[in-house]
Amino acid sequence: MSPGSGIAVFGGTFDPIHQGHLAVAKDVKARLGFQEVVFVPAGDPWLKADREVTAAEHRLEMVRLAVDGNPGFGVSTIEIDRPGPSYTVDTMEQLRRELGPGARLAFVLGADALAGLDAWKEPQRLIQLCCLVAFARPGFPLPALEPLEAAIPGLSRRVTFVEVSQVDVSASDIRRRVAKGLPIRGMVPEAVERYILEHRLYKGPLGATGP
Ligand code: ATP
Repeated sequence: MSPGSGIAVFGGTFDPIHQGHLAVAKDVKARLGFQEVVFVPAGDPWLKADREVTAAEHRLEMVRLAVDGNPGFGVSTIEIDRPGPSYTVDTMEQLRRELGPGARLAFVLGADALAGLDAWKEPQRLIQLCCLVAFARPGFPLPALEPLEAAIPGLSRRVTFVEVSQVDVSASDIRRRVAKGLPIRGMVPEAVERYILEHRLYKGPLGATGP
């Protein structure tokens, strides 16, 4: 990872990665001029403790297949390699150390995630380590910043809102469709679709669960 014109980190469970995630990464990179968008699959996504999550090796491989051949996208195993719950603040702290204090470093998150930021580990410290890039997604308009600012003083100065193409796809819907034997063509890149079918992902109880 090199600083260049900056790194935007896109964290998520990516169970599986889909066209909605890829559209966000493409738009954030193009609109805000980052050198690279780095996908960081969560090792142990504490926010998804209510459901079983697919093994990290599968989620990572699907992210690798999805970004393969796109020079503007990267993948980091930083959270998968770190034991314990995957807290964003720990990830950004490690990246800030690697990139140095002057590097442009951002964390990309959907409106749904931004709305719940006050429940994350050390959000105050997080916004000191990096700025945030937030986007609306289908069904999740941007939240009002005032209550968040009250909980995390200084937040509004550290958030940039970016408009992204709205792709109405969700990972939970994809898992449900696969479990029912329905097609997912066009919702994920072809290589990811093949991987899901070959490894029989989301066929068991995993596919049937989730919000
Ligand atoms: P699930 O349906 O399993 O909850 P998810 O796709 O919402 O999955 P993550 O894989 O953790 O969950 O998502 C990573 C990030 O991508 C989050 O910031 C989320 O807001 C965003 N995101 C998810 N789906 C879309 C979409 N269709 N368009 C834009 N952003 C999305």
